Amino acid sequence: MHKLLQGHATFRREFVAQSHEFLAELASAHQSPDALYIGCADSRVVPELLTTSAPGELFVVRNVANLVPPADRPHSSVGAALEYAVQALHVSHIVVCGHYGCGGVKAMIDGVAPSMPELKAWLAEASSGNAAARRKAVEGEDQWRLAVEENVLDQLANLSTYPCVKERLDAGALTLHGWVYDLHGGLHVYQHDEGRFEETRSA
Ligand SMILES: [Zn+2]
Repeated sequence: MHKLLQGHATFRREFVAQSHEFLAELASAHQSPDALYIGCADSRVVPELLTTSAPGELFVVRNVANLVPPADRPHSSVGAALEYAVQALHVSHIVVCGHYGCGGVKAMIDGVAPSMPELKAWLAEASSGNAAARRKAVEGEDQWRLAVEENVLDQLANLSTYPCVKERLDAGALTLHGWVYDLHGGLHVYQHDEGRFEETRSA
């Protein structure tokens, strides 16, 4: 914990000291992020870092394997954040960002130890007959990568089970984005027209 407090001291010294006006502005108004970002809790995938986002720009939900349980499920944390982001903050974009090498997705494939019943129950929220069937066509690392991608697409589908999301989508006021982050630093973005993930090449 000492390391974290030291880190905060550095933050105060290097960021707060130079950003008084910006922070005062943020504190004096309501937040108005443009995007809801739903990502994995994995410590290596840091939303603000990989999108160069400042405080106030991203409304973030992180959980194991970046899941969005369908509406009316008992796990309501994601649904609560979703409703708030869409109805109160009026975000224009929702990003679901998975990542290759995701331990949560690997556990979906290999199973979960009996000592982790909560994790098992949580990952069961991700199950999709379609994705599981497609995954069986490949093995090993390729299967894992495909499962990561399919998992993101499943969550995009689950998003539209929420009436507030469906309504905004139908009105053209909301756009959904499927991303997979490569731990080496790259980003693969789902191309809705082409039906596949493509690595971004932008400068
Ligand atoms: Zn993960």
